[in-house]
Amino acid sequence: MIIGAIEAGGTKFVCGIGDETSTIFERITIPTTTPDETLEHVVKFFEGKNIERLGVGSFGPVDLDRDSGTYGSITSTPKPYWSDFNLIGELKKHFSVSVAFDTDVNAAALGESIWGAAKGLDSCLYITVGTGIGVGALTEGKLVHGLTHPEMGHIMVRRHPDDAYAGGCPYHGDCLEGLASGPAIEARWGKKAVELVDNPQVWEMEAYYLAQAIANYILILSPKKVILGGGVMNQKHLFPLIREQVVTILGGYVQHKQILEEIDTYIVPPGLGNNSGLVGALGLVR
Ligand code: ADP
Ligand code: ZN
Repeated sequence: MIIGAIEAGGTKFVCGIGDETSTIFERITIPTTTPDETLEHVVKFFEGKNIERLGVGSFGPVDLDRDSGTYGSITSTPKPYWSDFNLIGELKKHFSVSVAFDTDVNAAALGESIWGAAKGLDSCLYITVGTGIGVGALTEGKLVHGLTHPEMGHIMVRRHPDDAYAGGCPYHGDCLEGLASGPAIEARWGKKAVELVDNPQVWEMEAYYLAQAIANYILILSPKKVILGGGVMNQKHLFPLIREQVVTILGGYVQHKQILEEIDTYIVPPGLGNNSGLVGALGLVR
């Protein structure tokens, strides 16, 4: 089957043509500008490619309720021009194929569970730490939805005693995303994250926040694998710092060898590299 896949991000849209084995034959990256301009490029890419289905993982929040009049829309984003834009409605005007739709992070979690670091597991979390923080969850073989969908990047965390930064989330100030996203790191320390590599305090504080969040997710959802991706996680030295703090926070309470003895294979980078989102969009179609 020829499947179209879209990873719709706030910075860029990645579009691909692939199949149900996760092979991507062709891809394109389009900067996210206005909805009209961005969609024009997206439509042009897929035109004439004979796609039989389309899978879309999108930044959000998004309306995933099929009974809602605004199904397929991006809802309350602070990103200029995009709130209330009906992404799926617009795509359906151009392509009369069935469209599978979910959040970018749910798509990534699904992709990782079929082909990546959580292959064969019926449960995992995919956390992206980038411009924002988003978390997708698969439990008992299903992507987690609810009233809308979880927004685990915006949970409250205990503040680091040495952190004077107020937090940058436009909705909550010092929620997890407000304290630990890439832009939060850069606002706190006044430099690009990549220029802060040699300052251990930066990464100790980053791990302090991410580890709290992950410990909370483990306590709530008991995922079988925790996958961390996104730009900030290019700092691979964060992994041991996070693992160590997660174990400390859980304090031996969660009695499982994955946490007590095998944390290195429990909290891991994506198996699909930078492709979790796009390949996950293919997975949504299956
Ligand atoms: P997006 O979240 O927009 O899809 P990314 O996941 O690449 O994009 O996240 C971008 C953020 O990640 C930037 O704000 C930047 O601070 C941070 N970032 C990108 N590359 C690195 C890196 N190598 N090391 C640390 N932080 C990085
Ligand atoms: Zn927030």
